[in-house]
Amino acid sequence: MRDRPSTADPFVPRPSACPGLLRIVQALDGGICRVKLAGGLLSSKQARAIAEAAEHCASGVLELTNRSNLQIRGVLAGQQAELIERLLAANLGPSNPAADDVRNLLLSPAAGLDPHALLDTRPLAAALLELLQNTPALHGLSAKFAIQLDGGEALAMLEHPHDIWLSALPGTPAQLAFGLAGCPTDRPLGAIRVEQAAELIEQLLLLFLKLAGSAHSRMRQLLSEIAPNQLLQQLQARLPFAIQPVPTAWQRQSTSQHAAIGIYPQQQAGLCMVAASARLGRIDALQLHALANLAEQYCDASLCLTPWQGVLLPNILEHSTDKLLHALGELGLLTDTQEPLSKLIACTGSAACGKGLSDSKADALRLAERLCTSTARPQVHLSACPRSCAAAHTAPFTLLASSAGHYQLYQRMPEVAGFGQLLASTMTIDEAGDWFAAHCATGNNDA
Ligand code: SF4
Repeated sequence: MRDRPSTADPFVPRPSACPGLLRIVQALDGGICRVKLAGGLLSSKQARAIAEAAEHCASGVLELTNRSNLQIRGVLAGQQAELIERLLAANLGPSNPAADDVRNLLLSPAAGLDPHALLDTRPLAAALLELLQNTPALHGLSAKFAIQLDGGEALAMLEHPHDIWLSALPGTPAQLAFGLAGCPTDRPLGAIRVEQAAELIEQLLLLFLKLAGSAHSRMRQLLSEIAPNQLLQQLQARLPFAIQPVPTAWQRQSTSQHAAIGIYPQQQAGLCMVAASARLGRIDALQLHALANLAEQYCDASLCLTPWQGVLLPNILEHSTDKLLHALGELGLLTDTQEPLSKLIACTGSAACGKGLSDSKADALRLAERLCTSTARPQVHLSACPRSCAAAHTAPFTLLASSAGHYQLYQRMPEVAGFGQLLASTMTIDEAGDWFAAHCATGNNDA
């Protein structure tokens, strides 16, 4: 059993604008506490502990993040210490208080379950999290520095760039391709055997910290100064094994990047996963209590958060899946991919973020209503300022606020950086809805 840090420890989190479990950051609606979940997993007991903490110490509003983590919003003044103590008591903290920021490892929510997977990533993920938490030299990594471990699952987020990515290769012995500052669909730098992965990551992170110094916090910044092949040579010099080339024919197949919603078969016979999305990434404490009840009623009392800001319940008996999906819908989660809201993401917006130029969440709800009257189901990201907090990737369409209720419309284009090509320099939400209705008839929603 690992030692659990206590708020009695004389630990002061380093300054950062990023919330953590031990560093509650202020917003217009109160404090934000971010709970990082290993592999996105939560037990029903932990879900109840979070729901109770959010009710008692905060506004009860919870956000599911695009890294499969969870945020408690509206933390009340004077309740921070109690909130942290409740979360630590539920075993939701890091094994080392200095390591809270560095627990950024994204897995598929279907790790170990997806019939398409080439590798069960969970044992390696546990080893990597141990490495990150128990190696003090790595605690200087930025709170945003993130690693993706992809087992080749069909249910995988392949659009969010990570500082380091690993992706399972077919064949034996089990190997992983790896790359930097990108996604598993990019061309990899090399390959290693699975049992070499922890050492590769440790040496790569130490090398990154040595070369980046205080000038750079992200891999893409370092790669603007040093060529990937040079970095690879330096990495090789630190390793007792040879990095192998990746067969040129190998390419991680991209999968549907729509939110995981519905019923998915598992590799375990007779069992399925059932997934639903939170409306604009938010649920409340009552919904989390209800999710905990469903996890106990239908499966092994576990929940997994998804990088599509939703939740997945694993190990559901086939004959119970329809009933569970219906129950998730009754809870207010999105269970139908034809609901326009299932294709929309929106940042916090001016209602709770001082940088917001418009109330992007309210605007997204209005846009969804408008789209209901058409067949258009576009994937749209509404961002209330250019920081683009809600999306780690470029969405097919972006509405970027220019003033309250007014947005610029962008369309993703492979050859255009940033949000893509500017299609309209100012639009109201109703005008945007009409534009999508006219230009994104069914079958043409992804641009
Ligand atoms: S994108 Fe801008 S307005 Fe939206 S939450 Fe981030 S900082 Fe705030």
